[in-house]
Amino acid sequence: MGGGAASSSFKIDKGSPLWRHTTRVAQCPGGGAYIWKCNFCNIQHRSSYSRVKLHFLGPAGEGIHMCQGSDKKGLPAAQIAALAKEQDDADRAVAKAKRGASQKTNIPTPSSDQTNTRTHPFLPMPTTNDEDEDPSPLTEP
Ligand SMILES: [Zn+2]
Repeated sequence: MGGGAASSSFKIDKGSPLWRHTTRVAQCPGGGAYIWKCNFCNIQHRSSYSRVKLHFLGPAGEGIHMCQGSDKKGLPAAQIAALAKEQDDADRAVAKAKRGASQKTNIPTPSSDQTNTRTHPFLPMPTTNDEDEDPSPLTEP
């Protein structure tokens, strides 16, 4: 709540929220890897975001050790659960955005897409054969 987030000028992508719990020191040239420092355990790493996720959420042994927290006892389960939820929410948001982008138009109010699905039937093409307009003789009795 201190608002001291100005230390990092890196943009946080929508799909990678856990960068927020790190301090990115520098971007490695020629790739998506960063030198970053964990805000919990203060250990510096050099990896891409996939390893950041592993550091916080596991599973262990995937090329990076899991976060041990500030007291070296590991992150509390509730903390890991909160981080996992952050990532999960981000994944959903990205998937949703992708789905929305694949649709033809971006609808400004997506909340009304369920009530508005009235399939208005296409008008049948009027077969305007001019011959049909021939004045049919009225058969008067
Ligand atoms: Zn850590």
